[in-house]
Amino acid sequence: MCAVVGVFGAEDASKLAYYALFAMQHRGQESTGISSADGERIHLIKKRGLVTDVFHQGRLKLLEGSCAIGHNRYSTAGKDSVLDAQPVFAKYKLGEISVAHNGNLTNKYEVRDELIEKGAIFQTGMDTENIVHLIAKSSEDKLKDRIKDMLTKIEGAYCLIIQSRTKMFVVRDRFGIRPLSLGKLKNGGYIVASETCAFDLVGAEFVRDVEPGEMLTFTKGKEPKSEMIFEADPHPCAFEYIYFARPDSIIAGKTVYNMRLEMGKQLAKETPAKIDLVLPVPDSGVAAAKGYADGMGVPFEMGIVRNHYVGRTFIEPTQEIRDLKVKLKLSPIKDMIAGKSVAIVDDSLVRGTTSLQIVRMLKEAGAKEVHMRIAAPEIKFPCRYGIDTASKNELISAYKTVEEVRAYIGADSLGFLSVDGLKESLGDDTKYSLVSFDGEYFAGGNADSPGCSAYA
Ligand code: 5GP
Ligand code: MG
Repeated sequence: MCAVVGVFGAEDASKLAYYALFAMQHRGQESTGISSADGERIHLIKKRGLVTDVFHQGRLKLLEGSCAIGHNRYSTAGKDSVLDAQPVFAKYKLGEISVAHNGNLTNKYEVRDELIEKGAIFQTGMDTENIVHLIAKSSEDKLKDRIKDMLTKIEGAYCLIIQSRTKMFVVRDRFGIRPLSLGKLKNGGYIVASETCAFDLVGAEFVRDVEPGEMLTFTKGKEPKSEMIFEADPHPCAFEYIYFARPDSIIAGKTVYNMRLEMGKQLAKETPAKIDLVLPVPDSGVAAAKGYADGMGVPFEMGIVRNHYVGRTFIEPTQEIRDLKVKLKLSPIKDMIAGKSVAIVDDSLVRGTTSLQIVRMLKEAGAKEVHMRIAAPEIKFPCRYGIDTASKNELISAYKTVEEVRAYIGADSLGFLSVDGLKESLGDDTKYSLVSFDGEYFAGGNADSPGCSAYA
């Protein structure tokens, strides 16, 4: 969940940040914000809504300066305050500061309670406010040292972009759970973004990923300075490859689309089916379905049409609305499906709502058999590192067997990718964050600790 961007050393920094946020809209649609620094002060605009709704030419003109940082916030049920938008801005002893954060701090409650005990006040439930407070309360003389001081007190997943009136600091946690890459702008400036698809839009050249445990300092007229703050223990999030990232992005050297194809091929090996056709659940299941069809040697068809004009519902996402939402969004091509045995492939199954609706839809369209295939393992544990999965009791695979889930969604068969199969698809050259599947909370927190946005 969430996207961050930082642009340094560009005349039109806020415009570049805007394009980058637009390219990363899929990472969060609830609110968006950009702050810019012109050397004298920081300007900030943040609002609820999509990037193109919030920013227009007039607004961007107000965001002056050669450094801009930005954020897209992911929607979480019921948390809709504009106060929850980022970047978070504050004035403090050393001047002005603005912070954008992607990830989730696992010790946020301990830190917050301690700060509150000492008299700190908070405007929101966001753990990002902890970061601002810890920087403001540090007794170090320089912002950089205050940031380092703050980093010794936070745990969990974070990609941080911090702006002062003249500098920009970028930090990635030692596990490198959430993605973060560095690019070079045509004019010589730099851009840092959650996903490389942002670089493609602004014509920046990919330089490298920001390393797990690394801090980059951007100062005017100098090349960025790199320091390793923590020893790296890389665990990139498998869910970025499965669902979250855009297929054209490259994370840890691997193009997301290719990883999804591999997962689909592996799924064909592990859970083949007697079928005439393979259909994807658009858009999230497309690449994996192509891989499954390739692996099975069966035709792939876009047999379900997606209506792209379904906006985000402004109604509380209760269970009934979720059901309706699937029908508003997806519709089958009946004469392609009638009388056929089909495999329908999605990237993941969370509550089972989407699968249940789609199986019903395909049966109503006349499918002889419907074989549901999920290109991810069963989600049994809530992520605490920035994917806002539902609480454990909403995760259908946490308390139902595969056969029970199959019966619930009404499919003729149901197959998930195995955890080993997922690892094999992604490549065994690194460890991954697989917490949703194996419950190994290697970066702190546990299945019962409150979710990403529990405070808000
Ligand atoms: P379910 O209907 O089983 O609750 O959710 C499965 C569907 O949700 C899949 O189509 C998958 O693409 C999508 N999905 C998986 N993870 C997320 C997420 O974190 N946010 C959103 N909005 N959708 C997700
Ligand atoms: Mg989906």
